[in-house]
Amino acid sequence: EKAPYRAQHAAMVSPGGKIPLGLPRKPLRIVVTGGAGFVGSHLVDRLIERGDSVIVVDNFFTGRKENVQHHFGNPRFELIRHDVVEPLLLEVDQIYHLACPASPVHYKFNPIKTIKTNVVGTLNMLGLAKRIGARFLLTSTSEVYGDPLEHPQKETYWGNVNPIGVRSCYDEGKRTAETLAMDYHRGAEVQVRIARIFNTYGPRMCIDDGRVVSNFVAQALRKEPMTVYGDGKQTRSFQYVSDLVEGLMRLMEGEHVGPFNLGNPGEFTMLELAEVVKEVIDPSATIEYKENTSDDPHKRKPDISKAKELLGWEPKISLKKGLPLMVEDFRKRIFGDHKDKGL
Ligand code: NAD
Ligand code: UDP
Ligand code: UDP
Repeated sequence: EKAPYRAQHAAMVSPGGKIPLGLPRKPLRIVVTGGAGFVGSHLVDRLIERGDSVIVVDNFFTGRKENVQHHFGNPRFELIRHDVVEPLLLEVDQIYHLACPASPVHYKFNPIKTIKTNVVGTLNMLGLAKRIGARFLLTSTSEVYGDPLEHPQKETYWGNVNPIGVRSCYDEGKRTAETLAMDYHRGAEVQVRIARIFNTYGPRMCIDDGRVVSNFVAQALRKEPMTVYGDGKQTRSFQYVSDLVEGLMRLMEGEHVGPFNLGNPGEFTMLELAEVVKEVIDPSATIEYKENTSDDPHKRKPDISKAKELLGWEPKISLKKGLPLMVEDFRKRIFGDHKDKGL
């Protein structure tokens, strides 16, 4: 281990344990790239609450200042507008590297930028980690499994990915990011952690990001039909954001490199998801079928045995419990704060 990290870190981990105890210790300095985005902003909330200092680095492509503005004025919080494709000089103890658009609509908007962000952006953040001896966590994705031929997916599965398809800027980009992380780990002794995140939802998701949960929720609230792509029998497993953030923090503080699947094993077809949204928002909501996008994975469900065993982590919030929490936030953002606007 590199000295600067070890010195700070020794004081914060329970003996033999992996979970931060919240005992008095020197606060860590932590960079969260993509910290103005959906997942990043929830992570920032937890890190600030824990007493650490956080620097958010974000180019605001899909992130928003509103997601972190409640920390403005806090001396332990700093927000830097910066694109990770450009080099960055900072002195910190940990780097959570999230910067990258996550929704297919966003990452396909400018595929060249997406792959640059994944490759050059990750390279820069690993170069930074190497120079300062910081611990580095990569938020990879279940997309590295592509259209999986193994179900559920374990971390040992190598995936089934189209290298020249419209999704490859993202899934091949993240695969390369994992390769870079492992090469910096093996070749430059950088302490790395790799999370493979499965579909995650919750408050602060972009309302019009085209992802299925945000689409269905926004459509049902606006009394529009929910758009089901293809026959709606494809599956996904949906994780509530606070479960993910807990998993990311345990991974960062623990001793294992990974990769670790972080996802909720509860698997739903898109038609079943539409039913849950109906129950939660509006029993009279309708469905409209649309043509599916190309290379859409048929099914996805994490095997989380590894995270359970080595991180002591598993998700706590089911779709039925988590969805209402997101709906509340979407209602406010779509209609303003007045809950009684005919809803
Ligand atoms: P998001 O789009 O809300 O957040 C991404 C953030 O990164 C945004 O704030 C955006 O402005 C910023 N960003 C993008 N490109 C950048 C660049 N070049 N330089 C600096 N900042 C940049 O997405 P999210 O759902 O919060 O995802 C966060 C991370 O988790 C991403 O790396 C994503 O690939 C990964 N992930 C998310 C999910 C999910 O379901 N949400 C699933 C798998 C993996
Ligand atoms: N880098 C950075 N901040 C740093 C150190 C490096 O952004 O504090 C970038 C650097 O510009 C380079 C990348 O990280 O493009 C990889 O750095 P590394 O030192 O591993 O490679 P080298 O610079 O030797 O090619
Ligand atoms: N999908 C859908 N209706 C929508 C948006 C997406 O039926 O309005 C489907 C999409 O075809 C895919 C699944 O929902 O099979 C998940 O899509 P999303 O973009 O949320 O995530 P990802 O494909 O990255 O898992």
